[in-house]
This record gives sequence, structure tokens and C-alpha cells, in this order.
Amino acid sequence: MPNDDIILAVDAVHATYINAITALHGVSFEIRRGGILALLGANGAGKTTTLKAVSNLLPAERGQVNAGSIRYDGSDVSRRKPGDLVRAGLVQVLEGRHCFKSLTVEENLVAGIGRSGRRAEINADLERVYSYFPRLREKRRTLSGLTSGGEQQMTGIGRALMSRPRLLVLDEPSMGLAPLIVQDIFQTLKKLNREIGLSILVAEQNSAVALRYADHATVLENGVSVLSGAAADLRQREDIRALYLGQQPSPAAKPSRLHAVA
Ligand code: ATP
Repeated sequence: MPNDDIILAVDAVHATYINAITALHGVSFEIRRGGILALLGANGAGKTTTLKAVSNLLPAERGQVNAGSIRYDGSDVSRRKPGDLVRAGLVQVLEGRHCFKSLTVEENLVAGIGRSGRRAEINADLERVYSYFPRLREKRRTLSGLTSGGEQQMTGIGRALMSRPRLLVLDEPSMGLAPLIVQDIFQTLKKLNREIGLSILVAEQNSAVALRYADHATVLENGVSVLSGAAADLRQREDIRALYLGQQPSPAAKPSRLHAVA
């Protein structure tokens, strides 16, 4: 029975590349409408593969989901084209800040519209992006290739916002950025979540920042979801960083209530 409160349900997903390399073998989590879920894991744990599976992008990489199910808004994503999912509000910001470097920031934003739109509507959407990212308004006429890494990440997120997402999916938005810029980006994501009810799935290796802004988190290890819980509870468990995320815990790690995923 589908639960209307759940915008994304990932259940026991197994995935392979070129029918040979197993990348996921048992990934499960759910995102409530209006929730922020952090998908944590070390390098190669399967975060990117999971995000691609969610948008049905694995076939384009010679990958496939072999078992389990992924439901967005109650419907099976494997039966829908990636573009169709975007139009239904499931929008990804891909890893690595994919901007067209020879286009201006504003041209990049407009390139994100997955539909034909009237100028007035496009302008209203641009205004909304600029209200959340004032830096982009300042740089609107600058070529993206000449903007900073943080501004390129903001452009990537802004471009996704132009498609009017209901579930925004981000792959390592903190990668390669200075801590202050990372805070700025996560604060803006949280603001979007609060003000327009945007649901968010964010994959991160930077568990400290992700756990500060997410409501819930799921930890992946070698393609399996091994731990799930409220972000506030996981934040207390610094030993998780050493166990699953390849980071050193501080000496003052505290115990808390969490459940391992069966
Ligand atoms: P990273 O932070 O390095 O992106 P990740 O947690 O996102 O790590 P994935 O990129 O999903 O992990 O990788 C999971 C596994 O799948 C790894 O063993 C990886 O080598 C493999 N893999 C990923 N992409 C491909 C591909 N296109 N073809 C073959 N194997 C792949």
C-alpha cells in the first residue's frame, strides 16, 4: 500500500554495471514529503549509483537495477524516462558542477528549464532563484567558466530550481568547496526546504555538515544501507565516522538510539 506521506521509497535495491560489477546489493530508505535525507558513505560506497537509480539514469551508464523497487510519488521510476521524472518534479544536481562554461550564469539557469515557458514565467523563476542565491544575481552576466567553484555549484542548484522540483537530489554539493561556502549552500537548501516545502535527498561524504541540516540519514557501506536514523541521533555518534565513513572520531563520542538496517 503506497503511503502518501512518502515522496521517495527505495526498497532493497540491487544494481550492477555492465551485468558484472555489483554496485548496490540492498539499499533501502524513505523520504517523507518536506523531509531532508542525507545519504552518507565513504568513497565508492554506492551513493552516486543510488542517486542515478532514483532518476532512472543507470541504463545510460550501462547499469541497471536488478532487484528491489524505487517509487517516486507512488510510481515505479523504472517505468519512466528520466526527462519525464524531471517534469514530474524529481530533479538532480549532478556531481561535479556541470555548468556550460561558455554561457553566462543566467543563460545556464535558463538552460535548466525542462519545458517551454513564457518570458514572464521564466523571469519570475529567475527572480526566485536570485532571491535564494543573491550571488548569482550579481554574476548573472558573467561567463560561468569565470565564476568560482561555489558560484558554479549555486548555478547548478539554481538551474535545477528552474525546473520547479518537488524532490531535489544533490550529489556531494560540498565537494571541493571552502567550509564557509558549504555552510552557505546548505543554509540555502534548508531555507528552500522550510519556505517552499522542497524535499531533498543529498549524498555527502561530509557527514558533519550533512547531519547538521538533514532530518534523517542513511549510511551506505559497500553498496548496502547499514544504518538509518534521525540526523540528530547520528550526529551524536562520532564512532560512525570511523566505522563507515573513513573519518576519525573525536575522543568524546557519545552513545545514542539508532537502528541498524536489516
Ligand atoms: P564516490 O564518492 O567516489 O562517487 P560513491 O559512494 O558515489 O563514491 P559509486 O560511484 O556509486 O560510489 O560507486 C559504487 C561502485 O560502483 C564502485 O565500486 C564503483 O567502482 C562502481 N561504479 C560506479 N560507476 C560505474 C560505472 N559507470 N561502471 C562500472 N562500475 C561503476
